[in-house]
Amino acid sequence: MSYPVTLIPGDGIGPEVSHAARRAIDATGVSIDWEIAELNSDLILKTGQSLPQNVLVSLDRTRVGLKGPVSTPIAGGFSSVNVALRKKLDLYANVRPVRSLPGIASRFSDVQIDMVIFRENTEDLYAGIEHEVVPDVVTGIKVITRTASIRIAEYAFNFADRVRRKRVAAIHKANIMKLADGLFLRCCREVAARHPHIEYKELIVDNAAMQLVMRPEEFDILLLPNLYGDIVSDLCAGLVGGLGIVPGANMGDTHAVFEAVHGSAPDIAGKGIANPTAMMLCGVLMLTHLKELGAANRLQGAIEAVYAAKKHTTGDVGGHSSTEEFTGAVIAAIK
Ligand code: ATP
Repeated sequence: MSYPVTLIPGDGIGPEVSHAARRAIDATGVSIDWEIAELNSDLILKTGQSLPQNVLVSLDRTRVGLKGPVSTPIAGGFSSVNVALRKKLDLYANVRPVRSLPGIASRFSDVQIDMVIFRENTEDLYAGIEHEVVPDVVTGIKVITRTASIRIAEYAFNFADRVRRKRVAAIHKANIMKLADGLFLRCCREVAARHPHIEYKELIVDNAAMQLVMRPEEFDILLLPNLYGDIVSDLCAGLVGGLGIVPGANMGDTHAVFEAVHGSAPDIAGKGIANPTAMMLCGVLMLTHLKELGAANRLQGAIEAVYAAKKHTTGDVGGHSSTEEFTGAVIAAIK
Protein backbone atom coordinates (compact mmCIF):
# COMPACT_ATOMS: atom_id res chain seq x y z
CA MET A 1 0.00 0.00 0.00
CA SER A 2 1.06 3.59 -0.72
CA TYR A 3 0.58 6.52 1.64
CA PRO A 4 -0.59 9.70 -0.08
CA VAL A 5 1.44 12.68 1.17
CA THR A 6 1.40 16.31 0.04
CA LEU A 7 4.92 17.59 -0.56
CA ILE A 8 5.20 21.38 -0.40
CA PRO A 9 8.74 22.31 -1.49
CA GLY A 10 8.32 25.98 -0.42
CA ASP A 11 10.99 28.52 -1.39
CA GLY A 12 14.53 29.61 -0.42
CA ILE A 13 16.32 26.41 0.65
CA GLY A 14 12.92 24.64 0.84
CA PRO A 15 13.09 22.86 -2.54
CA GLU A 16 16.67 21.65 -1.87
CA VAL A 17 16.02 20.26 1.60
CA SER A 18 12.60 18.81 0.81
CA HIS A 19 13.99 17.01 -2.26
CA ALA A 20 16.75 15.54 -0.07
CA ALA A 21 14.23 14.48 2.57
CA ARG A 22 11.97 12.88 -0.02
CA ARG A 23 14.89 10.81 -1.37
CA ALA A 24 15.85 9.68 2.15
CA ILE A 25 12.25 8.76 3.03
CA ASP A 26 11.83 6.83 -0.24
CA ALA A 27 15.08 4.99 0.51
CA THR A 28 13.51 3.45 3.63
CA GLY A 29 11.34 1.39 1.28
CA VAL A 30 8.02 2.79 2.50
CA SER A 31 5.87 3.53 -0.50
CA ILE A 32 4.74 7.15 -0.55
CA ASP A 33 2.53 8.61 -3.25
CA TRP A 34 3.89 12.18 -3.28
CA GLU A 35 1.55 14.92 -4.45
CA ILE A 36 3.56 18.06 -5.15
CA ALA A 37 1.81 21.30 -4.19
CA GLU A 38 3.63 24.52 -5.05
CA LEU A 39 3.45 27.24 -2.42
CA ASN A 40 6.06 29.98 -2.51
CA SER A 41 6.38 33.73 -2.34
CA ASP A 42 6.54 34.19 -6.16
CA LEU A 43 3.29 32.28 -6.60
CA ILE A 44 1.61 34.23 -3.82
CA LEU A 45 2.66 37.55 -5.35
CA LYS A 46 1.57 36.41 -8.83
CA THR A 47 -1.83 34.99 -7.88
CA GLY A 48 -2.59 37.30 -4.96
CA GLN A 49 -3.76 34.22 -3.06
CA SER A 50 -1.87 33.51 0.16
CA LEU A 51 -3.15 29.96 0.39
CA PRO A 52 -3.70 28.61 -3.12
CA GLN A 53 -6.66 26.24 -3.34
CA ASN A 54 -4.57 23.38 -4.78
CA VAL A 55 -2.58 23.15 -1.53
CA LEU A 56 -5.70 22.90 0.61
CA VAL A 57 -7.40 20.45 -1.77
CA SER A 58 -4.34 18.21 -1.74
CA LEU A 59 -3.98 18.31 2.07
CA ASP A 60 -7.67 17.58 2.44
CA ARG A 61 -7.17 14.47 0.37
CA THR A 62 -3.91 13.26 1.90
CA ARG A 63 -4.27 14.60 5.47
CA VAL A 64 -0.47 14.47 5.72
CA GLY A 65 2.00 17.07 4.47
CA LEU A 66 5.76 17.47 4.37
CA LYS A 67 6.41 21.16 4.00
CA GLY A 68 9.46 23.25 3.22
CA PRO A 69 9.61 26.85 4.49
CA VAL A 70 7.88 29.70 2.66
CA SER A 71 9.43 33.19 3.00
CA THR A 72 7.50 35.86 4.84
CA PRO A 73 8.22 39.51 4.05
CA ILE A 74 9.38 41.51 7.08
CA ALA A 75 7.48 44.65 8.25
CA GLY A 76 4.91 44.67 5.45
CA GLY A 77 3.84 42.59 2.45
CA PHE A 78 1.68 39.48 2.65
CA SER A 79 1.01 37.71 5.95
CA SER A 80 2.87 34.51 6.79
CA VAL A 81 1.46 31.57 4.83
CA ASN A 82 3.08 29.22 7.31
CA VAL A 83 0.86 30.74 10.00
CA ALA A 84 -2.17 30.87 7.68
CA LEU A 85 -1.89 27.16 6.87
CA ARG A 86 -1.67 26.23 10.56
CA LYS A 87 -4.76 28.29 11.31
CA LYS A 88 -6.76 27.14 8.28
CA LEU A 89 -6.25 23.44 9.05
CA ASP A 90 -6.45 24.03 12.81
CA LEU A 91 -3.01 22.50 13.35
CA TYR A 92 -3.07 23.58 16.96
CA ALA A 93 -0.05 21.74 18.33
CA ASN A 94 3.44 22.54 17.14
CA VAL A 95 5.71 19.76 18.37
CA ARG A 96 9.48 20.16 18.16
CA PRO A 97 11.84 17.50 19.49
CA VAL A 98 15.25 19.01 20.29
CA ARG A 99 17.88 16.34 20.69
CA SER A 100 21.68 16.23 20.61
CA LEU A 101 23.06 14.35 17.61
CA PRO A 102 26.30 12.39 17.95
CA GLY A 103 29.47 14.08 16.74
CA ILE A 104 28.24 17.68 16.51
CA ALA A 105 30.67 20.10 18.10
CA SER A 106 28.07 22.44 19.61
CA ARG A 107 28.89 24.50 22.71
CA PHE A 108 26.85 21.99 24.70
CA SER A 109 28.21 18.76 23.27
CA ASP A 110 29.25 17.61 26.77
CA VAL A 111 25.60 17.30 27.89
CA GLN A 112 22.81 15.10 26.57
CA ILE A 113 19.92 17.34 25.52
CA ASP A 114 16.61 15.64 24.86
CA MET A 115 13.51 17.81 25.15
CA VAL A 116 10.25 18.26 23.30
CA ILE A 117 8.70 21.68 22.79
CA PHE A 118 4.91 21.99 22.62
CA ARG A 119 4.03 25.37 21.17
CA GLU A 120 0.44 26.57 20.85
CA ASN A 121 0.01 27.22 17.15
CA THR A 122 -3.14 29.22 16.45
CA GLU A 123 -3.36 32.38 18.54
CA ASP A 124 -1.38 34.71 20.86
CA LEU A 125 0.28 37.69 19.12
CA TYR A 126 0.30 35.52 15.98
CA ALA A 127 -3.39 36.37 15.61
CA GLY A 128 -1.89 39.32 13.70
CA ILE A 129 -4.44 41.81 15.03
CA GLU A 130 -2.64 45.14 14.83
CA HIS A 131 -4.05 48.60 14.68
CA GLU A 132 -2.61 52.04 14.07
CA VAL A 133 -4.49 54.11 16.62
CA VAL A 134 -3.05 57.39 15.37
CA PRO A 135 0.11 57.87 13.31
CA ASP A 136 3.10 56.52 15.23
CA VAL A 137 0.97 54.71 17.82
CA VAL A 138 0.28 51.04 17.10
CA THR A 139 -1.38 48.39 19.24
CA GLY A 140 -1.08 44.64 18.77
CA ILE A 141 -3.57 42.30 20.40
CA LYS A 142 -2.54 39.13 22.20
CA VAL A 143 -5.30 36.54 22.03
CA ILE A 144 -5.26 33.71 24.58
CA THR A 145 -8.29 31.44 24.91
CA ARG A 146 -9.19 28.68 27.30
CA THR A 147 -10.01 26.32 24.41
CA ALA A 148 -6.61 26.65 22.73
CA SER A 149 -4.65 26.64 26.00
CA ILE A 150 -6.38 23.52 27.33
CA ARG A 151 -5.91 21.58 24.12
CA ILE A 152 -2.18 22.31 23.77
CA ALA A 153 -1.69 21.42 27.45
CA GLU A 154 -3.68 18.19 26.98
CA TYR A 155 -1.63 17.40 23.89
CA ALA A 156 1.65 17.85 25.81
CA PHE A 157 0.58 15.86 28.88
CA ASN A 158 -0.94 13.06 26.80
CA PHE A 159 2.29 12.85 24.85
CA ALA A 160 4.24 12.70 28.13
CA ASP A 161 2.02 9.82 29.26
CA ARG A 162 2.38 7.96 25.98
CA VAL A 163 6.16 8.09 25.77
CA ARG A 164 6.73 8.02 29.55
CA ARG A 165 8.32 11.43 29.89
CA LYS A 166 8.37 12.72 33.42
CA ARG A 167 8.46 16.51 33.60
CA VAL A 168 6.50 19.36 32.02
CA ALA A 169 7.53 23.03 32.36
CA ALA A 170 4.93 25.65 31.41
CA ILE A 171 6.57 28.89 30.28
CA HIS A 172 4.87 32.26 30.69
CA LYS A 173 5.09 35.93 31.61
CA ALA A 174 2.03 36.01 33.86
CA ASN A 175 3.71 38.41 36.27
CA ILE A 176 3.28 41.10 33.59
CA MET A 177 0.49 39.77 31.33
CA LYS A 178 -1.62 38.75 34.28
CA LEU A 179 -4.82 38.14 32.34
CA ALA A 180 -3.55 36.62 29.10
CA ASP A 181 -0.65 34.52 30.39
CA GLY A 182 -2.58 34.05 33.64
CA LEU A 183 -5.30 32.24 31.69
CA PHE A 184 -2.73 30.12 29.87
CA LEU A 185 -1.20 29.12 33.21
CA ARG A 186 -4.55 28.31 34.83
CA CYS A 187 -5.32 25.97 31.94
CA CYS A 188 -1.89 24.29 32.25
CA ARG A 189 -2.46 23.81 36.00
CA GLU A 190 -5.90 22.33 35.40
CA VAL A 191 -4.50 19.77 32.96
CA ALA A 192 -1.47 19.10 35.18
CA ALA A 193 -3.81 18.24 38.06
CA ARG A 194 -5.29 15.45 35.92
CA HIS A 195 -1.78 14.01 35.46
CA PRO A 196 -0.42 13.95 39.02
CA HIS A 197 2.30 11.41 38.17
CA ILE A 198 3.98 13.96 35.86
CA GLU A 199 6.11 16.57 37.59
CA TYR A 200 4.83 20.02 36.68
CA LYS A 201 6.56 23.36 37.11
CA GLU A 202 6.21 26.91 35.83
CA LEU A 203 8.96 29.23 34.65
CA ILE A 204 8.82 32.87 33.67
CA VAL A 205 10.07 33.06 30.09
CA ASP A 206 13.15 35.20 30.79
CA ASN A 207 14.24 32.88 33.58
CA ALA A 208 13.46 29.88 31.34
CA ALA A 209 15.82 31.32 28.70
CA MET A 210 18.63 31.50 31.24
CA GLN A 211 17.92 28.07 32.74
CA LEU A 212 17.88 26.54 29.26
CA VAL A 213 21.36 27.85 28.60
CA MET A 214 22.70 27.00 32.08
CA ARG A 215 21.16 23.52 32.48
CA PRO A 216 19.61 22.36 29.19
CA GLU A 217 19.91 18.69 30.15
CA GLU A 218 17.35 19.16 32.95
CA PHE A 219 14.48 20.05 30.61
CA ASP A 220 12.08 17.41 29.39
CA ILE A 221 8.80 18.82 28.01
CA LEU A 222 8.31 22.56 27.43
CA LEU A 223 4.79 23.90 27.11
CA LEU A 224 4.43 27.41 25.68
CA PRO A 225 2.06 29.87 24.05
CA ASN A 226 2.80 30.72 20.42
CA LEU A 227 5.31 33.60 20.52
CA TYR A 228 7.49 32.32 23.39
CA GLY A 229 7.37 28.94 21.66
CA ASP A 230 8.80 30.45 18.49
CA ILE A 231 11.65 32.25 20.26
CA VAL A 232 12.49 29.44 22.68
CA SER A 233 12.53 26.94 19.77
CA ASP A 234 15.34 28.82 18.04
CA LEU A 235 17.20 29.15 21.35
CA CYS A 236 16.92 25.39 21.90
CA ALA A 237 17.98 24.71 18.31
CA GLY A 238 21.12 26.71 19.09
CA LEU A 239 21.85 24.45 22.06
CA VAL A 240 22.08 21.33 19.91
CA GLY A 241 23.90 22.74 16.89
CA GLY A 242 21.54 25.07 15.06
CA LEU A 243 18.40 25.36 12.99
CA GLY A 244 19.63 22.87 10.41
CA ILE A 245 18.88 19.91 12.65
CA VAL A 246 15.58 20.54 14.45
CA PRO A 247 12.37 19.14 12.95
CA GLY A 248 8.78 19.98 13.80
CA ALA A 249 5.24 18.72 13.42
CA ASN A 250 2.08 20.80 13.14
CA MET A 251 -0.64 18.55 14.50
CA GLY A 252 -4.41 18.91 14.45
CA ASP A 253 -7.25 16.48 14.96
CA THR A 254 -7.56 15.72 11.26
CA HIS A 255 -4.34 16.83 9.52
CA ALA A 256 -0.62 16.70 10.21
CA VAL A 257 1.96 18.88 8.45
CA PHE A 258 5.64 18.24 9.14
CA GLU A 259 7.86 21.29 8.87
CA ALA A 260 11.37 22.17 10.06
CA VAL A 261 11.90 24.90 12.67
CA HIS A 262 14.11 26.84 10.26
CA GLY A 263 12.88 29.37 7.73
CA SER A 264 13.74 29.75 4.05
CA ALA A 265 17.34 30.87 4.78
CA PRO A 266 17.64 33.10 1.68
CA ASP A 267 21.33 33.75 2.45
CA ILE A 268 22.26 30.20 1.43
CA ALA A 269 19.43 29.31 -0.99
CA GLY A 270 20.46 27.75 -4.30
CA LYS A 271 24.05 27.13 -3.20
CA GLY A 272 23.64 23.42 -2.53
CA ILE A 273 24.97 23.75 1.02
CA ALA A 274 21.78 23.74 3.14
CA ASN A 275 21.55 21.11 5.82
CA PRO A 276 18.59 18.80 5.05
CA THR A 277 18.75 17.07 8.46
CA ALA A 278 15.80 18.98 9.92
CA MET A 279 13.62 18.02 6.96
CA MET A 280 14.82 14.42 7.09
CA LEU A 281 13.97 14.31 10.80
CA CYS A 282 10.54 15.71 9.82
CA GLY A 283 10.42 12.58 7.68
CA VAL A 284 11.15 10.47 10.78
CA LEU A 285 8.24 12.18 12.59
CA MET A 286 6.03 11.66 9.55
CA LEU A 287 6.88 7.95 9.26
CA THR A 288 6.13 7.60 12.98
CA HIS A 289 2.78 9.33 12.43
CA LEU A 290 2.07 6.87 9.58
CA LYS A 291 2.92 4.08 12.06
CA GLU A 292 5.90 2.99 9.95
CA LEU A 293 8.04 2.70 13.06
CA GLY A 294 10.67 0.40 11.56
CA ALA A 295 11.31 2.83 8.69
CA ALA A 296 11.33 5.79 11.09
CA ASN A 297 13.98 4.08 13.23
CA ARG A 298 16.06 3.14 10.18
CA LEU A 299 16.08 6.72 8.90
CA GLN A 300 16.87 8.14 12.35
CA GLY A 301 19.66 5.57 12.77
CA ALA A 302 21.13 6.43 9.35
CA ILE A 303 21.18 10.17 10.14
CA GLU A 304 22.84 9.51 13.50
CA ALA A 305 25.40 7.19 11.89
CA VAL A 306 26.40 9.89 9.37
CA TYR A 307 26.82 12.42 12.18
CA ALA A 308 28.79 9.98 14.32
CA ALA A 309 31.16 9.30 11.40
CA LYS A 310 31.72 13.11 11.00
CA LYS A 311 32.75 12.73 7.34
CA HIS A 312 29.75 14.00 5.41
CA THR A 313 28.20 16.83 7.41
CA THR A 314 27.30 20.31 6.14
CA GLY A 315 28.96 23.66 6.91
CA ASP A 316 26.39 24.90 9.46
CA VAL A 317 27.43 22.10 11.83
CA GLY A 318 31.15 22.43 11.17
CA GLY A 319 31.47 20.04 8.21
CA HIS A 320 32.40 20.58 4.56
CA SER A 321 29.90 18.51 2.60
CA SER A 322 27.16 19.65 0.25
CA THR A 323 23.45 18.91 0.67
CA GLU A 324 23.88 16.24 -1.99
CA GLU A 325 26.88 14.54 -0.34
CA PHE A 326 25.18 14.46 3.05
CA THR A 327 21.99 13.05 1.49
CA GLY A 328 23.94 10.36 -0.37
CA ALA A 329 25.68 9.36 2.88
CA VAL A 330 22.35 9.07 4.74
CA ILE A 331 20.81 6.99 1.98
CA ALA A 332 23.86 4.71 1.92
CA ALA A 333 23.57 4.26 5.70
CA ILE A 334 19.91 3.17 5.67
CA LYS A 335 19.86 -0.50 6.62
P1 ATP B 1 11.74 32.44 9.83
O1 ATP B 1 11.55 33.73 10.54
O2 ATP B 1 11.25 32.41 8.41
O3 ATP B 1 11.36 31.24 10.63
P2 ATP B 1 14.41 32.27 10.75
O4 ATP B 1 14.52 33.57 11.44
O5 ATP B 1 14.21 31.06 11.60
O6 ATP B 1 13.29 32.29 9.62
P3 ATP B 1 16.14 31.11 8.88
O7 ATP B 1 15.69 31.44 7.52
O8 ATP B 1 15.77 29.77 9.34
O9 ATP B 1 15.70 32.19 9.89
O10 ATP B 1 17.71 31.26 8.94
C1 ATP B 1 18.45 31.72 10.06
C2 ATP B 1 19.93 31.39 9.87
O11 ATP B 1 20.13 30.00 10.02
C3 ATP B 1 20.43 31.76 8.49
O12 ATP B 1 21.69 32.36 8.56
C4 ATP B 1 20.51 30.46 7.76
O13 ATP B 1 21.54 30.41 6.82
C5 ATP B 1 20.72 29.42 8.85
N1 ATP B 1 19.98 28.17 8.50
C6 ATP B 1 18.66 27.97 8.65
N2 ATP B 1 18.31 26.75 8.21
C7 ATP B 1 19.44 26.17 7.77
C8 ATP B 1 19.74 24.91 7.16
N3 ATP B 1 18.80 23.97 6.94
N4 ATP B 1 21.02 24.65 6.81
C9 ATP B 1 21.99 25.55 7.05
N5 ATP B 1 21.78 26.76 7.60
C10 ATP B 1 20.52 27.08 7.96
